[in-house]
Amino acid sequence: MKHCSIHWFRKGLRLHDNPALLAALADCHQLYPIFILDPWFPKNMRVSVNRWRFLVESLRDLDESLRKLNSRIIAENNDKVPLTYARLQMLLEALGPPKQPVPAPTLESLKDCCTPCKDNHDAEYGIPTLEELGQDPKQAGPRLYPGGESEALGRLDLHMNRTAWVCNFQKPQTEPNSLSPSTTVLSPYLKFGCLSVRTFWWRLAETYQGRKHSSPPVSLHGQLLWREFFYTVGAGIPNFHKMEGNPICVQVDWDHNLEYLQAWSEGQTGYPFIDAIMTQLRTEGWIHHLARHAVACFLTRGDLWISWEEGQKVFEELLLDADWFLNAGNWQWLSASAFFHQFFRVYSPIAFGKKTDKGGEYIKKYLPFLRKFPAEYIYEPWKAPRRVQEQAGCVIGRDYPKPIVVHEVVRKRNMERMKAAYARRAASSGAHPEGGVGKKGAEQGLPVARSVAKVLTKKRKKKSS
Ligand code: FAD
Ligand code: MG
Repeated sequence: MKHCSIHWFRKGLRLHDNPALLAALADCHQLYPIFILDPWFPKNMRVSVNRWRFLVESLRDLDESLRKLNSRIIAENNDKVPLTYARLQMLLEALGPPKQPVPAPTLESLKDCCTPCKDNHDAEYGIPTLEELGQDPKQAGPRLYPGGESEALGRLDLHMNRTAWVCNFQKPQTEPNSLSPSTTVLSPYLKFGCLSVRTFWWRLAETYQGRKHSSPPVSLHGQLLWREFFYTVGAGIPNFHKMEGNPICVQVDWDHNLEYLQAWSEGQTGYPFIDAIMTQLRTEGWIHHLARHAVACFLTRGDLWISWEEGQKVFEELLLDADWFLNAGNWQWLSASAFFHQFFRVYSPIAFGKKTDKGGEYIKKYLPFLRKFPAEYIYEPWKAPRRVQEQAGCVIGRDYPKPIVVHEVVRKRNMERMKAAYARRAASSGAHPEGGVGKKGAEQGLPVARSVAKVLTKKRKKKSS
């Protein structure tokens, strides 16, 4: 018997590799594809206008693809959380590769099926404009990454045609401050489900086929495994987005400092590399992974000693790709709260950017008022003699802030505070103060893995008793 189906689009805003949509279409004579925009969200959620625009574009693209299809008149780990990447890889090896993506529905699959809609459909249920969502389109930044499945698949094709680039891809070799992105920028499309992760995975596998290629964790397959890793851990750890009540998170006595937090989030720290990154984030909605490293370390254990939860909130608002699991997991990593424990390795807000951009071209792009500073001062403009500052048309302390903290001073003080936090943790759990393992083990988060295994076993015992 033929039936009527509702397909609720939530995060998978696409037709390709959408098994639920295919299932809804099976033996269906009427399909109602819906997306629910709760009026609560525009008012209460921290979402930048850039991400609203991405969502609206994705919905429009989906709607158009559905119309083309005539819709409208037509129309295995013993229950334990794997806390290390290596452990996840082992599990995945046992599970084998992900399933092949399912094909997108075709005109044929919708042959006997219609998506009924009334005359008032567009007015009542159509895709809202940014204005209707209470957003000012003029506040949106340049449209570098338009939303939608069509754009996602186009972008995927573009990258997959660069065979050598894909095969040689090593994440640590990509640059945080190149003038155009040095990685795929498929993250917003994965976040909204405009691109299926399985489709991305299998396209990579095809590209690798018969060729020498890089491997996880640094390869593009490896990047997708990081995503899998944080999803898996985040699903198993209580309070994963918070410090309190989160069993894998080191408890740190972060400061409350609204002035510092604001300076950081608005790109006013006086450190041009940090401020350029935060400006790119605010205007464009995407920044490179290592740029995220630099600003996350700076906000937390490196310089300002502000909780990673505060940084997480700012990213949650401004990133096009804001993703609960990835955001929480990576913030814990960068603040040396979980997964990564070498808190004595701190990024310098001056030296780090110089490694790949000596002349500060990236800084000049995002902070154009500094563009006349000679290269030798572009990362530390406060060191330029007054005469040079005047010639550059930007006097430090008047036109651009002096450094908010002295990096070399706070770095050392923070390290002591971090040491103390680790010592408190060790005292309460009986582990070695600095994680107790060598470089390799520390990067894989081994000591934490043990303590979590303990927590989980305790919980399970409780449940069963
Ligand atoms: P590519 O290098 O081209 O990688 C391809 C895909 O692999 C990405 O699109 C992403 O889905 C996945 N991936 C890559 N790196 C990671 C990683 N470290 N962890 C998990 N998955 C990864 N990514 C988000 O998508 N949403 C977030 O909210 C987010 N918050 C972050 C917060 C901090 C503090 C840090 C340091 C990183 C965060 N990341 C987040 C991870 C990473 O920076 C981005 O996924 C990546 O930069 C996206 O660019 P890309 O698509 O060009 O990546
Ligand atoms: Mg460069």
